[in-house]
Amino acid sequence: MKQQRFLLSITKEIEIENENEVKMKKSIFHTPYSILILLSAFLLVTSCKTKKITVPKKNVVTIKLLQVNDVYEISPLSGGKEGGMARVAYVADSIRKQYSNTYLTMAGDFLNPSLIGTLKVDGKRVAGRQMVEVMNAMKFDLAAFGNHEFDLKEHELQERLNESEFTWTGANVFQKNGEDVRVFHTIKNGDSLPISETITYDIDINKEYLLRLGFFSVCIDSNPVDYVHYADYMLEAGSAYAALESQNTDIIVGLTHLSIEQDKQVAEAFDNIDLIMGGHEHDNMYVPVNGIHVAKADANAKTMYVHTLTYNLATETLDINSELVPITNKTPSLPTVQAVVSKWEGILNKELRSIISNPNEVIYHAETPLDGTDAGGRGKQTNLGNIISEAMSVSFDTPVDGALVNGGSFRLDDHLEGDITAVDVFRVLPFGGDVLKVEITGELLKETLDYGESSAGTGAYLQRHNLNKNDKNVWLVQGAPIVSDQVYTIAFSDFLLKGFDIPFLTPDNPGVKSIYKPTAFEPAFDIRKAVVDFMKTLNQ
Ligand SMILES: [Zn+2]
Repeated sequence: MKQQRFLLSITKEIEIENENEVKMKKSIFHTPYSILILLSAFLLVTSCKTKKITVPKKNVVTIKLLQVNDVYEISPLSGGKEGGMARVAYVADSIRKQYSNTYLTMAGDFLNPSLIGTLKVDGKRVAGRQMVEVMNAMKFDLAAFGNHEFDLKEHELQERLNESEFTWTGANVFQKNGEDVRVFHTIKNGDSLPISETITYDIDINKEYLLRLGFFSVCIDSNPVDYVHYADYMLEAGSAYAALESQNTDIIVGLTHLSIEQDKQVAEAFDNIDLIMGGHEHDNMYVPVNGIHVAKADANAKTMYVHTLTYNLATETLDINSELVPITNKTPSLPTVQAVVSKWEGILNKELRSIISNPNEVIYHAETPLDGTDAGGRGKQTNLGNIISEAMSVSFDTPVDGALVNGGSFRLDDHLEGDITAVDVFRVLPFGGDVLKVEITGELLKETLDYGESSAGTGAYLQRHNLNKNDKNVWLVQGAPIVSDQVYTIAFSDFLLKGFDIPFLTPDNPGVKSIYKPTAFEPAFDIRKAVVDFMKTLNQ
């Protein structure tokens, strides 16, 4: 691939002056991606400037691209063992001190979901403000949109864009207002600045030569919301790529937020991409495609990628060496960033301690990862759904027949593994709410279960305890068929009884016979407390 690229360099004369110094006449011109551009490019040949440069003794340039993706939490996870943005900052800072051409990048999904983001401070939901503050303190260079950025309300995302001291890029996501579609903007000091489909950095070498590093980004369209228009990611990647090519970009990097299959398509389609730093997938991978690699680090900065790009000016060849760096409790924290993280942790802990005395206590050890992904919780009975619904069923003084919770109330969109703290339970269930003990007719219970089952793929899908279907398609409670005119006692999450997810399931439905609201002394008073108490009993 690289050979093809340099075959198309137009003129290159090298005359050796002495052992250490090379004088080179050179014009930079790269492989276009379509015949059309190729033809028009040849027409431009005569106008290409020939630049006389003196290649320094050391004719290689080193660039460090630091990549994190899908970082929802600013603090370390797994009881402090993994992740943590202050630790990432330490690594980034150490590299920056050694290599001036260092770029810290985020490949999407960082403003939501997070526990801190659900808090209200000064009457306003935090909604990712903590992450932007931390990223500003870390001196991030560049960020791409991920699908979770659009979980925010439009005005919240606008505020985050305005607060960002780093650059955003996105080629296929646009702000939609009715029929009106325009690029997203950041507004600073009254100036409205459009977010660009490409970003280039010119690396000045001895004030004689500019090496151009270019990025583009495209985002998966998995989060349809009113105010976002997703254009086709392949078309827009193509247009951004062509723009970078036409700007004589020496190194082209995709900072994408796509599924790995989509990333492979992009890598296949555009020959002169040098690297794709991707997101969306939560487990690290380094996938070879079309002579380059698609790299993704682990979610929540459990790892970060450090890509070392070595560009040889004389031969115009690029070597990329990628290292996956674990971020653990052995990684020091950068004090300036830790101060910002600690400020937000203080706000969070104050809130959590009003519900639970020791939020950072390890309450459970999960050998098998617990599935807290959106796809899991909204599509099938999961191991985490088993734990939460069973916890609900034992959260009262007296037993119940079964328990139901809407999968949409699980907001982690990730797995939990290893040491699990009470904070992790709050991360899964940030909105809390009490568990209600409801007397309900068998008929309404069956209708509710049917509705939940038919809602697979949405938040109304139900996670269940002691409520199952047999192979004859009959709903069972504790193993026995549900009898329509019998009354059952079922634990419900309070949200479910509000009729938002299941429209007919409201307190005034005649099938609802009674609703018991727990007292502050019962674990059911807050579903998170119920789950924490229950999980503590599981490892014993
Ligand atoms: Zn994503």
